[in-house]
Amino acid sequence: MNGEPIRNIVIVGGGTAGWMAAAALGTVMGAMPDLSIRLIESEAIGTVGVGEATIPQIIAFNTMLGLDENEFVRETHATYKLGVEFVDWARKGHRYIHPFGSYGLDMLGIDFHHFWLRARDLGHGSELDAYSIAAMAGKAGKFIRPQNERPGSPLAKLGYAFQFDASRYARYLRRHAEARGVERTEGRVVEVLQDAESGFVTGVQLDGGEIVEGELFLDCSGFRSLLLGQTLGVPFTDWSKWLPCDRAVAMPCTLAGDRQPLTRSTAQPAGWQWRIPLQHRIGNGHVYASAFIDEDEATRLLLEGLDGEALAEPNRLRFTAGHRERLWEKNVVALGLSGGFLEPLESTAIHLVQSGIARLLTLFPTTAFTPHEIGRYNREGAQEYLDIRDFLVLHYRASERDDSEFWRYCRALDPPEGLAEKLAMFESSGRVIREHEELFTETSWLSVMVGQGVQAGGHHPVAQMLDEAETVKRLAHIRGVIESTVGQMPSQDEFLAANGSA
Ligand code: FAD
Repeated sequence: MNGEPIRNIVIVGGGTAGWMAAAALGTVMGAMPDLSIRLIESEAIGTVGVGEATIPQIIAFNTMLGLDENEFVRETHATYKLGVEFVDWARKGHRYIHPFGSYGLDMLGIDFHHFWLRARDLGHGSELDAYSIAAMAGKAGKFIRPQNERPGSPLAKLGYAFQFDASRYARYLRRHAEARGVERTEGRVVEVLQDAESGFVTGVQLDGGEIVEGELFLDCSGFRSLLLGQTLGVPFTDWSKWLPCDRAVAMPCTLAGDRQPLTRSTAQPAGWQWRIPLQHRIGNGHVYASAFIDEDEATRLLLEGLDGEALAEPNRLRFTAGHRERLWEKNVVALGLSGGFLEPLESTAIHLVQSGIARLLTLFPTTAFTPHEIGRYNREGAQEYLDIRDFLVLHYRASERDDSEFWRYCRALDPPEGLAEKLAMFESSGRVIREHEELFTETSWLSVMVGQGVQAGGHHPVAQMLDEAETVKRLAHIRGVIESTVGQMPSQDEFLAANGSA
């Protein structure tokens, strides 16, 4: 092995990213002799204070930490999430769901959706949602955990995630991390110290004068990007051309309206608005492009769209879509907002923290910091951002809306290369391609392409091996099984109460 084992890890920042990293490192490495993991955070600076919706991968992270799911749901005031409902995105008055899990049943060795496309070509229209247990349960306000012991049931394939209070999650993980040896220091980093020759970070100086030294630094300092951006000067890859939204105004409100286990995204004239029901409140926010709408108007639209009474003053945030060119430079790894940000349209930010931590654990360095690990980390991280970017751009690019300058700009965008290829493939043959284990599955790409009104120009020839009557019969059977299964599921409120939550 080149180099010596790392003995001192310093995490700068105690938002969701910092405490997720601390909890994971504490769980996996906390028992290693002579290893110190220290987290520095400043209550005076505070955290970004938003971030509520997640994707199913978070279940693996919580399991890796050994968290009890019912306790986690109670502690973070979480609700369940079966997908995202998009309202007014394709055109005004239209809605569709991007569900977790998958559609229907694959038949004759090919994807289910080819049979659905063929049936549609034959004039048998039925909504794609009707073939997704997650979409149908979401609309009905139902929830139950997947039943893997029933392989034939659609419940075996139910995908789910959570909607929670990210600040509570950070506090919960803090207890978990501290119980596994992570040491927390309250203080503001006022200076970052570097080796004069190599430029490696050697320590950080706190406002009280203390110097905290380390060998590996995790920059979890949020949009400030104190170590990676400000100190090491790693440039930012700016994607605002494709994703022009650069502001958000967030405001929680009291519970009111429906309580479906879905995140709702409603398109607005220059952006979109989220609505995320938790156990104790609804999270709301308006993500918008400042080139097309001003702050007062954006705030007015948000207030107008609230179901309940506002619970706080508006929290205003600024960002640029994109990421640091390299997420790992010298002995600094950025996790969370310090590494980059893509608008929360598909709830990917907390996932990017999680995947960064998993990648770091796989490629964990020694004091030699060899370029192989660093290079691989950076390639994989940049690819992940790029894949998510393309998926987000699809939502805007494929809209039929032309009722505002913002939507006309989005419709006229030249899609990035990967997205252009995916669109061309679907438009010519109905095929959905997923590259190199990218985060979003075929179900996700299909749901948004169909939901946004992208027309498939055909279907797989094998789908024609079932005659029309058999195709229609099988599709009706699948819809019927999903409908009756949803009918037997408890409501989300019943499920939460039965498992110890409000
Ligand atoms: P922060 O929360 O900003 O934490 C930064 C930490 O660094 C704080 O503890 C701060 O005190 C500390 N710090 C900074 N400077 C110093 C210093 N000099 N000295 C000491 N400490 C310092 N994610 C999702 O997954 N789903 C969502 O639905 C979602 N919605 C979002 C909506 C918006 C509008 C935004 C902006 C983000 C959203 N996110 C969402 C992202 C999510 O909130 C963040 O990715 C996540 O909370 C991680 O933030 P962070 O820990 O990187 O940064």
